[in-house]
Amino acid sequence: MTSQDQKAAQLTHPRAFDYDVVIVGAGPAGLCAALYTARAKLTTLVIDKLIPGGQILNTELVEDYPGFESILGPELAEKMQKHAEKFGAQIVMDSVVGVRSEGPDGRIKVVKTEEREYRAKAVIITAGGSPVKGGWPGEERLNARGVSYCAVCDGPFFNGKVLAVVGGGDAAVEEGTYLTKFASKVYLIHRRNELRAQKILQDRLFANPKVEVIWDTMPEEILGDPTVSGIRLRNVKIGQTRTLDVGGVFVFIGFKPNSDILEGTGVPVDSGGHILTNQLMETGVPGIYAAGDIRAHLARQVTTAVGDETTAAIAAEKYIEALNEQPLAPEPLASAAVEAVVAS
Ligand code: NAP
Repeated sequence: MTSQDQKAAQLTHPRAFDYDVVIVGAGPAGLCAALYTARAKLTTLVIDKLIPGGQILNTELVEDYPGFESILGPELAEKMQKHAEKFGAQIVMDSVVGVRSEGPDGRIKVVKTEEREYRAKAVIITAGGSPVKGGWPGEERLNARGVSYCAVCDGPFFNGKVLAVVGGGDAAVEEGTYLTKFASKVYLIHRRNELRAQKILQDRLFANPKVEVIWDTMPEEILGDPTVSGIRLRNVKIGQTRTLDVGGVFVFIGFKPNSDILEGTGVPVDSGGHILTNQLMETGVPGIYAAGDIRAHLARQVTTAVGDETTAAIAAEKYIEALNEQPLAPEPLASAAVEAVVAS
């Protein structure tokens, strides 16, 4: 290593970094990654705009996480948080607004929040996403009281009930079919007269005697107090309204990954905004990993999120080990950003 290289290494390691790893999102995926990276003695910060727990805070009972036959969603979230903190992970509440690479060979990952900037060797993005909501009266009030956005999570609580499923894409058709395992009847309510879902999923749905599709129809209001008892519908072609007695309403009208924060990083996303990674959860931008619901994959489950996140955490750990040993290219040290960090 030349003396210039040595100076570069001195200047950028370790003082240029606030943390080894910054994890964006404190759902099950982020908390699992934090557990792994903190336990590997990497300084770890988790940032979430809300209290830790992510989507499981909206789930009443979790019955499909191994080792817990039945546990309240918020209780599982709290256990995951304490577990990560026990190994030294720090969790802060703040909104991440962007991520960028800086410094010699782009090795400093800067996570910008509304409050400040954090510099890390690796960033793991587990910011999840949100089911698109219809915005109909009653939807918010009855959320988790009969209104659900996850059939696998909540379907078993609707044994023997009549259900309404709203949407006409893959999710609505697949989950609607799945819900017939529990429901006595499923009405699939779609705003047009043809489904967007893949043909094979449609064939399965149409072949299911428990399913009735209601075409050209939109919800107007979800009814019930304290839990869902019905849904008022309007036919968009003839304007006629009707009310169906149902014990639950499952809404599948799209899912929006929170990947906007990666704009400008070069991290690839698919047409729906899901981050694309390889099987090591690498995004293609060295030092930036993604896992959980924000990544394109088949199942949006706690088990898949923590599984993928374990891979991301171990991959990040190996990347950091290699980074610590790697000599730096000296030229970009003139970068104002690096100088500012070193001076601070
Ligand atoms: P999606 O494909 O965007 O479908 C959303 C559906 O909801 C559409 O039928 C749409 O109607 C309807 N819709 C949208 N806004 C609405 C509103 N305000 N009121 C009433 N209906 C509304 O979303 P998705 O089904 O969640 O799928 C998201 C992505 O995940 C897709 O790429 C999908 O292929 C993938 N996915 C794949 C699988 C699988 O392969 N097994 C399973 C689930 C999801 P229009 O048709 O009229 O636009």
